[in-house]
Amino acid sequence: MFYLPIKYEEPLFRPPSEARSLILQITSGCSWNKCAFCEMYTSKKFKIKPFEKVSEEILICAQTGYKFNKIFLADGDAMVLSTDRLNRVLSEINSKLKNIRRISAYAKPKDLANKSIDELKELKSNGLDLLYVGIESGDNDVLKLIDKGETFDSTVTGLLKAKSAGIKLSVMILTGLGGKELSMQHAVNSGKILNEIQPEYASTLVLSLPLGIEHFLKRYKGKFTILSKFELVYELKVLLKNTKLEQTVFRSDHASNYLILKGILSRDKDKLLKRIENVLATQNDADLRKEWQRGL
Ligand code: SF4
Repeated sequence: MFYLPIKYEEPLFRPPSEARSLILQITSGCSWNKCAFCEMYTSKKFKIKPFEKVSEEILICAQTGYKFNKIFLADGDAMVLSTDRLNRVLSEINSKLKNIRRISAYAKPKDLANKSIDELKELKSNGLDLLYVGIESGDNDVLKLIDKGETFDSTVTGLLKAKSAGIKLSVMILTGLGGKELSMQHAVNSGKILNEIQPEYASTLVLSLPLGIEHFLKRYKGKFTILSKFELVYELKVLLKNTKLEQTVFRSDHASNYLILKGILSRDKDKLLKRIENVLATQNDADLRKEWQRGL
């Protein structure tokens, strides 16, 4: 195992596809930190790491002699930084680390909407290739109840700006997030928001409540009844049915999912829907991941 001589402020998160990337923590925590379901950064106060410290860490990584080819800029919403600051970080990476093929970060749609297309193009030309965005839902009621700080329109505006600057998008929808009460509108509108954005990658995760439902209900601003495993699968069916995607890599393989699906949408839409229909018809637990397999 490769030991990296830089210190991280824990907890540290990254998308599964960045498992082999160098993680540069240019901020700590999340500047929003209010989403009802999210416990990722509740133990941290949002901070921006001084540029000198970031620069020193990039130099330390360069001096290891290891050929990093992917970099993930942590923590939860590095794109909240000013374009100038982000460009300074990207230039520092480009001047000190040589074999970088991809630089990515998490982003909130509003961070993107607050930048101009020219600014986003500048970031892209400086190496920012991919943004991971937790859309969570395309439904305005659900977004309000979880206190996402975004709407259908603000999400589409921010993400289309990044897309038109040439930055690739990997977006996440959280199934089960509206409970039984809003399940169908959550599914239908989440399909619609994907259609508006046409992201390169889309995935579904299942709502997971590590601190328990009582804790979640203190923050969720409405009535909420948790979905059963097969109700979650049905919600996923409605979501997929409502998609009209041109060329999106779709995955429901994150550890939280009960049913693993992979394909290109819309090419594989009928095949994926058929698989879901078979699972729903038999309602056989053996078709789903067991709790211990979900690795949560
Ligand atoms: S914006 Fe993202 S990281 Fe921040 S609280 Fe919401 S889900 Fe968590």
